[in-house]
Amino acid sequence: MTINPDWRALAGSLTFRNGLFIDGKFRDAASGRRFETVNPANAQVLTDVARGGAEDIDTAVHAARRAFEDGRWSGKTPSERKEVLLKLAALIRDNIPELALLDTLDMGKPIADSSTIDAPGSAHFFQWHAEAIDKLYDEIAPTGGRDLAMIRRMPLGVIGAVVPWNFPLDMATWKLAPALAMGNSVVLKPAEQSPLSALMLAELASEAGLPDGVLNVVPGFGEDAGRALGLHPDVDALVFTGSTKVGKMFMGYSAESNMKQVWLETGGKSPNLVFADADLDQAAQMAAFGILFNSGEVCSANSRLLVHRSVQEEFTAKVIEAAQAWPMGDPLDPATRMGPLVEKTHADRVAQYIEIGRAEANLAHGGQRETRDGSDCYIGATIFTDVSPDARLAKEEIFGPVLAITPFDDDAEALRIANESEYGLAASVWTRDLSRALSVSDKLRAGTVSVNTVDALSAMTPFGGVKQSGFGRDLSIHSFDKYCALKTVWVKY
Ligand code: NAD
Repeated sequence: MTINPDWRALAGSLTFRNGLFIDGKFRDAASGRRFETVNPANAQVLTDVARGGAEDIDTAVHAARRAFEDGRWSGKTPSERKEVLLKLAALIRDNIPELALLDTLDMGKPIADSSTIDAPGSAHFFQWHAEAIDKLYDEIAPTGGRDLAMIRRMPLGVIGAVVPWNFPLDMATWKLAPALAMGNSVVLKPAEQSPLSALMLAELASEAGLPDGVLNVVPGFGEDAGRALGLHPDVDALVFTGSTKVGKMFMGYSAESNMKQVWLETGGKSPNLVFADADLDQAAQMAAFGILFNSGEVCSANSRLLVHRSVQEEFTAKVIEAAQAWPMGDPLDPATRMGPLVEKTHADRVAQYIEIGRAEANLAHGGQRETRDGSDCYIGATIFTDVSPDARLAKEEIFGPVLAITPFDDDAEALRIANESEYGLAASVWTRDLSRALSVSDKLRAGTVSVNTVDALSAMTPFGGVKQSGFGRDLSIHSFDKYCALKTVWVKY
């Protein structure tokens, strides 16, 4: 589908869904409280949204539990669930401009990305998981004799999902598509910075035929709604994407309450290793993409660039040139490749890291913060060279368009620096030597290694981390593992 609307006109005509979505209906929070969601492109309030708290989470979990127990969704066959989720995928496709705009207005990502990557991606991921669910066979153990031991995948029950603001629609989709396909009920808490697309998604799911109570969306803040969901005694599993710090809290919530399962997709500081024999032009283009896409607000952003010392100077110049093809501007302008950062406090944090970087390393490009249309959330591509592997710039997740370049002398040193991180989400390797590519990939401690590309990702391949980047996998057939319990049913005959 070609989409070429007048984005500003469409933005002006949008109506926002701004209630809690519980048991198939929008409603106010029990407390009556609301919070403002702000467009970071111009610091204007978009709307005020019902602010869910512990009481609302409890209501939503009860609705989800009722729906699960009476089988209105969990009791449907996989093929029946597939039909509803395929319809949802089609409705998402019919509403790409509006869904894309909601994410762009709520958190500042360029409309060029939200309308071609995020919103179509959501439709694709729902479709993929829907198509997969009636092709997933259970097992029979090879017991022999007069025994039939069936190993069955059973839906878990009520899933609590808590997601971040960097890909609001897609992070929700990555959890919802497999959870719902498997027959679970869900309570989703979107990030307080970006609740709008999840609320529209819930409405579309209803329209597609998802029964009331199966998907509930409770916008609110982490410390009240998120915490209440984490601690709720009737939630069977928590699936979380967000920071490592909060991910650890979810493990605590589980331990303090009912030992619910916890699956975490958390932070990253992904290394991008460029060897001297690489296609340097292509590697430089993709190194820029790896840190500038979504303004670097990407968990798997290639924020550490490790370059062989012999090509460091030449390669850095190419990366700086490539970064200049990433204009920053109004996210509603289709030519914009980088919008504002999500909110002022986050922009302050990124700006602080740039100050730290000025003291620790050499600022080779960018580093400015700009005010546009009344918003000071704009920070352009920023590149530091001569970054020591021990520098904070090289160790801490910045979550902005800030690249740290560090030279290495041989493969062993490259690997040592790459693996010296508390994170292990993704890594990239650039070389024309197949043997080196494979042996370095083997030794990199990361959930995904991209060779001669960056951030390779598809519905077909699992995504997730090792070390403090979390555990459990989104996407692919393996994503279903988190949303079911294996049950052995042993029949003697
Ligand atoms: P965050 O951890 O602050 O918030 C994520 C979610 O957790 C939000 O919905 C928030 O309301 C909730 N939350 C916050 N405090 C909470 C608390 N005390 N109890 C319960 N819930 C709480 O993260 P963020 O700033 O929104 O997102 C950025 C982070 O997300 C980065 O660290 C990034 O690496 C990570 N991320 C990881 C992946 C991945 O797949 N590994 C993908 C995207 C983002």
